[in-house]
Amino acid sequence: MHPYLRATFWILLFLLLVQAPLFVLLLGPKPAGDGFWFDLSLALGFAVTAMMAIMFLLTARFQRATAPFGIDLVYYFHRLASIGAFAFATLHPLLLFHEEPGLLRVILAGTLPLHLWTGLVSWVAMAALMISSLWRKPLRIHYDAWRVVHVLLALTALLLAVAHIVAVGHYSATPWKTWLWLGIALSCVAVVIRVRLIKPVQLLRRPWRVTRVIKERGSSWTLELRPEGHGGFRYLPGQFAWLTLRSSPFAMREHPFSISSSADTPGVISFTIKELGDFTNRIGEIQAGEKAWIDGPYGTFSVDISRAPGYVFVAGGVGIAPIMSMLRTLAERGDLRPLLLFYAYHTWERVTFREELEALCQRLNLDIVYVLSEPPADWQGERGLLRDEVFARHLPDDRAVRECFICGPTPMIAVAETALARQGIPPTHIHSEIFDLV
Ligand SMILES: Cc1cc2nc3c(=O)[nH]c(=O)nc-3n(C[C@H](O)[C@H](O)[C@H](O)COP(=O)(O)OP(=O)(O)OC[C@H]3O[C@@H](n4cnc5c(N)ncnc54)[C@H](O)[C@@H]3O)c2cc1C
Repeated sequence: MHPYLRATFWILLFLLLVQAPLFVLLLGPKPAGDGFWFDLSLALGFAVTAMMAIMFLLTARFQRATAPFGIDLVYYFHRLASIGAFAFATLHPLLLFHEEPGLLRVILAGTLPLHLWTGLVSWVAMAALMISSLWRKPLRIHYDAWRVVHVLLALTALLLAVAHIVAVGHYSATPWKTWLWLGIALSCVAVVIRVRLIKPVQLLRRPWRVTRVIKERGSSWTLELRPEGHGGFRYLPGQFAWLTLRSSPFAMREHPFSISSSADTPGVISFTIKELGDFTNRIGEIQAGEKAWIDGPYGTFSVDISRAPGYVFVAGGVGIAPIMSMLRTLAERGDLRPLLLFYAYHTWERVTFREELEALCQRLNLDIVYVLSEPPADWQGERGLLRDEVFARHLPDDRAVRECFICGPTPMIAVAETALARQGIPPTHIHSEIFDLV
């Protein structure tokens, strides 16, 4: 299916699911309408609750659900849709205050009945979710703590919203409608149980063992792992997985990393990890023989999904990791389709996999354009940052039929996406992997 058609299908499905409760609630006996604004307010409340439930499903790591888009886009959508849901959740009481000004006085007087308290606390939990997610970095909330709080706040907001709907009972008084909302709430709890309890149990049964820890250029390390007592899993070149080291899979301490090894070498998996923060700074301390757990594979950033007569890769820093997996796999297959890699780094000394890339040029039909922001004095290649002129100088004539894969710092991805599109590469051929989810 054409990517635009596929995206339209999923967006329509999302809108349908958001509105589904509204239509269901109109079935059977219903109260007399209380005017347009009052009913609109209720409709917004129902839609917000449905949106929250969909967010649980979207972020529950169902491989099939995220497959059409890739996880970064799913999280991006989650972010935008959540902002929309919060706007609806805020409009819901504002419209009610407009229709029934007495309600605001009751809130201010602190004499709110329980069935309205549930709605108010649900809104407060949503507001806390918004603030802690949109401003996590400026507020200096540690990522691991944020994740735990995020799940707890999301569950609180959803369960109290459903309690509010059921307790108010307007449009939802019949038992089957009550059960419908309870069913939605229970499904979300089941999703959390699946991700946080069932999945970790499954991971515990399929441990991995670190076999090598290799220091790479550019403050990075490659961890090589082998499955212990099971066959591992198959993955496509360029996909990623969630890695847990030195803690239990129940601890919510897993980190996403692209698989950098060849997808055609069964039984071994490698990750190339740059020192960046609390977890990654300690990767060099990992010893061969340590246990690990790997949840994967995920993602659609792969030459095996986006097939083409040739490829363009754009890497910045450790963004080379998924691209290495694709290049290694293509080399192992003896694939001689034309490949062009733009690889941006600060200094020549830090270019991760520099030597192996030169060797890959002998095995593949691969050209590499290094772009250094701090080049050595005798540097003959491209210098500065990746920009339009660099792409214009090197992109091949058949650029419009090639598929492009971009991975690196978020600002670099934005520049490369725009520049490639301006140079005549169709936007549907441009794929990006964003390492910075929140
Ligand atoms: C799909 C994907 C693939 C990735 N592939 C690679 C790779 O191949 N090599 C590599 O070096 N890095 C990769 N990353 C980035 C890597 O996950 C983060 O750099 C790492 O988790 C940072 O953890 P930290 O505790 O060292 O850093 P911190 O200083 O705690 O965090 C730095 C930033 O990393 C992100 N982050 C931190 N913890 C997590 C977590 N548990 N889950 C998700 N994001 C987190 C947050 O945005 C945070 O602001 C990838 C990220 C994604 C989303």
